[in-house]
Amino acid sequence: MLALANLNPLPILSSLFYPAHCVGCSDVIAEGQYLCCSCREAAPRIHPPFCAKCSEPFFGAITQTFRCPNCEHRVLHFDAAVSAYRSRGLVRKLVHEFKYGRRFYLRNPVGQWVAEAMDDVRLRGRRFDILVPVPLHPARERERGFNQAALLAELLSDRVGIPLRLILERARFTSTQTAYDRSERLKNLRDAFRLRKKVNVRDLRVLLIDDVLTTGSTLSECARVLKEAGAISVLAATAARA
Ligand SMILES: [Zn+2]
Ligand SMILES: [Zn+2]
Repeated sequence: MLALANLNPLPILSSLFYPAHCVGCSDVIAEGQYLCCSCREAAPRIHPPFCAKCSEPFFGAITQTFRCPNCEHRVLHFDAAVSAYRSRGLVRKLVHEFKYGRRFYLRNPVGQWVAEAMDDVRLRGRRFDILVPVPLHPARERERGFNQAALLAELLSDRVGIPLRLILERARFTSTQTAYDRSERLKNLRDAFRLRKKVNVRDLRVLLIDDVLTTGSTLSECARVLKEAGAISVLAATAARA
């Protein structure tokens, strides 16, 4: 498992014996499942209408494609970023516990949410040459034990048969994004990513993978690097969007 490094073995061991209980509410569930029916239904799905570019849901009776206030006045370098869920309630809680609580087995329900983004018309039936996870800085990956985006991309790669390539890296340490507003985030992210040495993405169709889209700035910066290196198209799929 290439995405996994330095992880305390306990969560993995317990994950072998754990399920049969819903990870959302602890109800008993069938073997091989992670969420019970009511938790699956409680996960806040994004319903149309939503922004064609960043998937921000919009309330109202809009039927044509539109750009939302989150992205109409900015340059987002990805062609579209797709999420099937909002980062609220159970979705937000499980993504957070997966990322920060070392509950490694939560990659499965969170990975399921990423997979559901693939059913969206913007991604379904489209050709992708490679899946590329948003990288973590090595120091942060050591501290966390894994890169959650790489684990999610690995699960999706197994499922859809598109190769996973860890070709982006953090060029420098960026402070935690959540403390910044949007323009500060952009400044903080400027030149934060680069292609690994000897990587060629010319003429490739890339699907970026991350756990959550917040403002879209991180995915946009990754997409910019890939497009400047010759990628034909860069779309993104995440488990959830803020
Ligand atoms: Zn449940
Ligand atoms: Zn938008």
